[in-house]
Amino acid sequence: MACPVHDTVTAPWNDAQRVPLIRLEQVTKRFGAFTAVDRVDLSIYRGEFFALLGPSGCGKTTLMRILAGFEAANEGLVALDGRDMTGIPPNKRPINMMFQSYALFPHLTVAENIAFGLKRSNMPKSEIQGRVEEMLKLVQLTAYPARKPHQISGGQRQRVALARALAKSPKLLLLDEPMAALDKKLRQETQFELMDIQGRTGTTFVIVTHDQEEAMTVASRVAVMDHGRVVQVGTPNRVYEMPKSSFVAGFIGDVNLLEGKVKLQSEGFAALHWADGQNPFFATPVSRLRAGAHCRLAVRPEKIAITAEKPEGPRNVIRGKVHDIAYLGNLSTYHVELATQHIMKVQISNDHRLPQRSFARGDEVWLSWADGAGLILDE
Ligand code: ATP
Repeated sequence: MACPVHDTVTAPWNDAQRVPLIRLEQVTKRFGAFTAVDRVDLSIYRGEFFALLGPSGCGKTTLMRILAGFEAANEGLVALDGRDMTGIPPNKRPINMMFQSYALFPHLTVAENIAFGLKRSNMPKSEIQGRVEEMLKLVQLTAYPARKPHQISGGQRQRVALARALAKSPKLLLLDEPMAALDKKLRQETQFELMDIQGRTGTTFVIVTHDQEEAMTVASRVAVMDHGRVVQVGTPNRVYEMPKSSFVAGFIGDVNLLEGKVKLQSEGFAALHWADGQNPFFATPVSRLRAGAHCRLAVRPEKIAITAEKPEGPRNVIRGKVHDIAYLGNLSTYHVELATQHIMKVQISNDHRLPQRSFARGDEVWLSWADGAGLILDE
């Protein structure tokens, strides 16, 4: 999975002295009896590319609308640059929002769309032209200032919307599913462009997405939301490698989850009894566990080795039969059925054009992984 390089951000969240650009404290939003955002605490730092990630309906857009000022929280504090935002309307906040639909004016040209907000802010005419040119250059659209939105591609429209949103140099840009209208390939290219533009302008970006790969690619940090709550915040790498719960582990990337009871703990590892008559599996517990507690083992498919012979060494070793194979070009995913009828997913990268040994459906195989490859989660 891609991990971003953010040279503009050097982990300010680890520096207790740094004042966050955005501070949310116990922010709650209810629609009637339904709680859409539930006691959210968040700190987002200047220069970050921060992603709000979660399944449909988890409250991401509502939280972003609260930041923008389109919704008022029922409880809690929203502060920007140390200033309480309560009662400050959207147009008086140093924030801009780029909508999923882009909301470009169809009758205005590309340049006029970008200039729109600048004119309303009473910027002198002489300066507006220069700023529009600067923005066209930033999003690589200098060849099309006179075109109307219907005369450019979807990806170019997205860039016009971005240029328009950045023209007034907001302190914070909110992006609501900014790539939803693009096809997969263009989406991937656009993610890199967006990271580049964010890096060059130094503007703080907060993006809402339900696409975990997108969040992992672009973000300096990710907040994973579930039922209105922020359940984990961290760098993409940290959230992927150290998910706090099986919800996060399953939402970010693919994972094998086996339920069981904690048997014993020693040398930093815990043993999980997961099926009668089977040896326990050893893994790192994410929290202090009680013997006998009901827990889950989480192990990523790419951390499991698949071999024809029983490997010497690893304690986590189990026999199975290949049930299905998905060939994805650079990767193959094997579904392996255990004697207990559990299905384990194993991912192998196809580094060699002709793999030395590949397996076919029905083959008897051994699966193994290191103690440190799995986690034992208590939620
Ligand atoms: P999606 O990815 O589908 O856009 P989301 O995570 O952005 O989802 P929100 O749009 O924030 O979710 O909505 C969170 C919950 O609040 C949903 O259950 C939604 O139905 C509800 N909700 C949002 N706006 C309103 C409203 N104005 N009135 C009543 N309920 C609302």
